[in-house]
Amino acid sequence: MFNGGKAFKHLEKMAVEIGSRDSGSAEEREAAEYIASVFRGLGLKTSFQEFDVETGRILKQGLEVLEPYMEEVECMALPLAGGTGPEGVEGELLYLESVVEEYITPEIDGKILLTQGFYRAGLELFTKYRPLGVVSIGRRPNSPLGHGWGTAKLRDKYGPMPVVNVKFEDGLKLLESGAKRVRLTADIEAGKAKSQNVIGELEGSEKPEEVVLVGGHYDTVPGIPGASDNAAGTAVAMELARVFSEKGTKRTLRFVAWGCEESGCLGSRHDASRLKKEDDELKKGDEDAKSELDGIRLVVNADVQGGKIGRNTVASLGPVELKSAVKLMAKEVGVVFSMGGSGGGISGGVYSSDGTSYSAVGVPSLNFIRGGAPYIHSMEDSIRWLSPDALQIHGEFMERFLTRYVAEAVAFPFERTIPDDDRKAIERFYKGRMSKPPGRE
Ligand SMILES: [Zn+2]
Repeated sequence: MFNGGKAFKHLEKMAVEIGSRDSGSAEEREAAEYIASVFRGLGLKTSFQEFDVETGRILKQGLEVLEPYMEEVECMALPLAGGTGPEGVEGELLYLESVVEEYITPEIDGKILLTQGFYRAGLELFTKYRPLGVVSIGRRPNSPLGHGWGTAKLRDKYGPMPVVNVKFEDGLKLLESGAKRVRLTADIEAGKAKSQNVIGELEGSEKPEEVVLVGGHYDTVPGIPGASDNAAGTAVAMELARVFSEKGTKRTLRFVAWGCEESGCLGSRHDASRLKKEDDELKKGDEDAKSELDGIRLVVNADVQGGKIGRNTVASLGPVELKSAVKLMAKEVGVVFSMGGSGGGISGGVYSSDGTSYSAVGVPSLNFIRGGAPYIHSMEDSIRWLSPDALQIHGEFMERFLTRYVAEAVAFPFERTIPDDDRKAIERFYKGRMSKPPGRE
C-alpha cells in the first residue's frame, strides 16, 4: 500500500538535499537522475525525454531609492521577463494601481512603474508607451517575497520588460515615503539549456496498448526549495510507481516526472505537442490509423502536495463519469475533495499545470492539489509545513482510484473525450496566458 513515509524520503532528497531545481539547471538534471534511478530500481522501462528551453540566471538584482534616499529594498527579479544589464535602469517611480488600458497614458513612458498584480496580460499594453521596468508588489502583508520566471515567449514577442517583485510592506514603504527616483537592476544571464521529462513505464499485463500517465513536475521557480510545489507531487507519483510495480497492472502505467512546469508547463507541452504532431502526421495517410496519442486514456497529475494544513482539490477535464467517479470514491472513503481549478468559475476544471497540456490534445486529466499553501513560489516552500500523513491522503486515494479503474478494471470505464464546456475553458485558459495550446504552436 501507498506509504507516505517512503514518499517523504523522495521529497526530502529533492527539496532538501538537492534544493532548488530551476528550469534547465544542473540541479534540475540531478533531480532527474535521482528519479530515473528510483524508476530503474523498480524495474520500470526508464528513459529521458529531452527538450530545449530558454532559461535565465540572476547575476545581480536590486532596487535602490535615489531620491529621497532610502535603504535598498529587497527584491526578486523574474529572469525570463527581461534584463537591465549590470548598471540597471534609472528613472522616476510612478505608482499605477494596476496595469490596465485606462491607466496607460503617455505619462508611463520612460518611468519605472510601481504596481500590484502585474501579470503577463499587461505586457501587451506597453507597445505604445513603454516604461523602463516594473516593480510588482506582493498581494498581502507578512508574506514572503514571491519568486517567478516570467515568460521567454512573451519577452520575445513584446520585448524585454524588467520586472522585480517586492513584498507588500516594501511596496507600501515606497509609496508612503514618496520615493521619486529609483534604480532597478535585473542583470540576467539568459541562455539556452536542456531540460528533460523522466519516464518510467510499467507495461500492462493484459492491455498494454491502453496507457495512463501518472506524474508530477519536479522543477521549481528560481532559487526556492519547492517542497510542496512540487517535490511532493513528484514523490507521490514515485511512491505510486513502487506500489504498482509490486502489485501489477492490466493496463500500462507510464510514470512521468515533468521538467520546466514553472516556466510554462514546457515538459508536458513538449510531450503533448509531440504526440499531437505524430497523430496528425499518421492520420494524414490513414484516417483509421491508431496513434500513440489514441492509446493514452487519462493523465493523473499531482501538483502541490503534502501540506499539514491544506484542502483537497481535484481539477478535472474530461467526461462527466470521470468527475463523478472521483466524487463517489471521495464519499466512499470519507475524504473531502472539492472539484475545481485555478480559474474558478471562469475556467472550470482547468488547473495551471501539466494535466491541462494533455487535455488540450484530447486526453482527459485529473489534477490532484493539496491547496491552501500560501508559501508556494517563495523561500518558505520547505518541508517544514509538510508531513508523510498529508502525502498519504492523496497518495492513498490515487492508488485506490488507479487500482479500481485502471490496473484492475475489465474495460476502461472513461470515454476518451473532452466535453465542449471543458474544451472552451481550455481555450480561455491559453488565451488568458497569451499562448497557443500544445500541438498548435
Ligand atoms: Zn507546481
